[in-house]
Amino acid sequence: MKIDVLTLFPEMFTPLNDSILGKAQEKNLLEINVINIRDFSADKHKKCDDYPFGGGAGMVMMAQPICAAFDSIQKSDDTLCIYMSPKGKKLNQNLVKELSSRNHLVLLCGHYEGVDQRALDLCVDMEVSIGDYVLTGGEIPAMALIDAVSRYVPEVLGSAESAQDESFSENLLEYPQYTRPQNFRGKEVPEVLVSGNHGKIDQWRREQKIIVTMQNRPDLLEKD
Ligand code: SAM
Repeated sequence: MKIDVLTLFPEMFTPLNDSILGKAQEKNLLEINVINIRDFSADKHKKCDDYPFGGGAGMVMMAQPICAAFDSIQKSDDTLCIYMSPKGKKLNQNLVKELSSRNHLVLLCGHYEGVDQRALDLCVDMEVSIGDYVLTGGEIPAMALIDAVSRYVPEVLGSAESAQDESFSENLLEYPQYTRPQNFRGKEVPEVLVSGNHGKIDQWRREQKIIVTMQNRPDLLEKD
């Protein structure tokens, strides 16, 4: 999968070079290109934001550098351009899976008060929000989307980090996990997990998933 990111702050994306996503890039399972919108500004001072027409607080990212940066990207019929925005469709595991079936994503990160609407009208297919709160920029939302989507790209997760049986599969949250030692500060691992009886372990985990979901996210149980 190829992901092009359009941002005014490319240096914010260094965390993607670590851990599982770093390895996925080294193995060419994932190609992430971070493009500095400022490099495409036609202004002699490389200005990329200006005051909003009609007045109001803050600055707005200008359409020209964004559209020029977008135009520089090679696209295919499978390219989807997403603007990270609190006004967008809320990201959930179903949308993550849907996006992971694409070969090419372009993610536009806003900053300040947002982006000139004409850049969105000209370049963007869809707006995605990571939740009902406002962040200072689209960079952290873009990284969250990249991380979640990449986990569904074949071979990105090794068998040790399977995306199956996790929270949100079957609208349930995951069961509690334990590792060694068996007794930590007087707290024992549930006995069933060390019983060696896999039927009973599966049954316990299934029950725990329902209990955790009822406690933390009862709304998930009401979904079809
Ligand atoms: N004035 C905008 C509004 O009220 O909708 C908020 C702009 S916000 C300060 C700056 C940028 O951060 C946005 O353009 C967007 O790219 C990003 N952003 C902020 N919150 C977000 C969220 N919940 N999901 C995705 N992107 C977000």
